[in-house]
Amino acid sequence: MGQPKSVLVVGAGIGGLTAAIALRAKGFDVDVIERDPHWSVYGVGIIQQGNVVRAMTELGLIDDYLDAGVGFDFVEVCIPTGAIVARIPTPRLVPDRPANVGIGRRALQKVLGERTRAAGAKIRLGVTAEALDDDGAGASVHFSDGSDGRYDLVVGADGLFSQTRATLFPDAPRPEFTGQAVWRYNFPRLPELDALRVFEGQTGVGLVPLSDTLMYMYVTTPEPGNPWYPREGLAAVMRAKLSGVPAPLIQSLAHQITDDAEVVYKPLEWLFVDGPWHKGRVVLLGDAIHATTPHLGQGAGMAIEDSIVLADELARTDDIEAALTRYRERRLDRCRYIVEASRAICLGQIGLGPLIENATATREMFARIAEPI
Ligand SMILES: Cc1cc2nc3c(=O)[nH]c(=O)nc-3n(C[C@H](O)[C@H](O)[C@H](O)COP(=O)(O)OP(=O)(O)OC[C@H]3O[C@@H](n4cnc5c(N)ncnc54)[C@H](O)[C@@H]3O)c2cc1C
Repeated sequence: MGQPKSVLVVGAGIGGLTAAIALRAKGFDVDVIERDPHWSVYGVGIIQQGNVVRAMTELGLIDDYLDAGVGFDFVEVCIPTGAIVARIPTPRLVPDRPANVGIGRRALQKVLGERTRAAGAKIRLGVTAEALDDDGAGASVHFSDGSDGRYDLVVGADGLFSQTRATLFPDAPRPEFTGQAVWRYNFPRLPELDALRVFEGQTGVGLVPLSDTLMYMYVTTPEPGNPWYPREGLAAVMRAKLSGVPAPLIQSLAHQITDDAEVVYKPLEWLFVDGPWHKGRVVLLGDAIHATTPHLGQGAGMAIEDSIVLADELARTDDIEAALTRYRERRLDRCRYIVEASRAICLGQIGLGPLIENATATREMFARIAEPI
């Protein structure tokens, strides 16, 4: 198989967009398809660490990225009553750039989407791949809008419930519910919040700066049986989940959780595919092949790094098979570590595994992600 020239990326999430940007930078022709016609992204944010700052620098995006979010260098730990007992410095991986970034998901999508288009990749919304035929010389794709295309390579970046994974590897493991869920809500940013602030206790709570004016709160709760909560009344349920948290700051924020539509509730699932990550001319990246719980804040970071490594390997050789094999080899241990270490924290919190000391796990994570990719 010769070096690919044309690439179809399935899914315009964080992984698909960074893959498109990284592949365009290496000279590939790239089309992106996204199933959601509205390309909707929920309104809260994510935390990213130095490895993502490094990756965004490599992708040539760092200024736009930092302008859209907020950088910070510390993690603050509070005891359940709210007193800050530690302010832990976190390592910078790029000189003069922050160690961590909080960024709204919509703000991040805007930066990545604009850069993808400016780089010359086409993004088609409301389109999926209905049939994919890899005949060895190329992949013919029939799209849901009735059109057809032929590509040298297809990248499945279609997330946790990836249709591409199901087609390629019907026997691969499926996403598994952990027993825990996350509740999130945006607030005006506290002027003094210049760090990720984590509250210890039976109900895990954190405050994350997202921009000059915004922050969000996350709350992790055990949810045995994976209950379904109707949208109506969701704010009251989130307030009730916080009722046992003694910190006065959290109690005063809880009173402001009043809009059902703005509560983002998410059962936590995980997935790790140990077997092959590609078959012929179709390869998977991001949550489609390794999805982590958010306890180390590294899911999107792994998807972004996948994109850089995939483009790097494809550009190095004319042999697609060798490039895709090398891509997995370079990513496997690092992604496995993130998925397993995050899941261990999660299971410890809900009593389904040994309790993991958060500070130790976080320190280890910072050391691991500092390693080159
Ligand atoms: C509660 C929670 C908190 C998190 N917090 C963090 C954090 O703080 N930091 C962090 O780094 N990560 C975090 N993550 C993880 C992060 O959100 C994911 O790892 C990341 O979004 C994965 O990106 P992706 O592009 O692989 O998949 P996705 O973001 O799921 O994107 C997949 C895209 O593909 C599209 N799609 C799906 N099927 C098809 C199809 N058949 N055809 C075309 N398009 C399709 C979808 O509409 C979507 O746009 C968190 C995750 C959760 C659940």
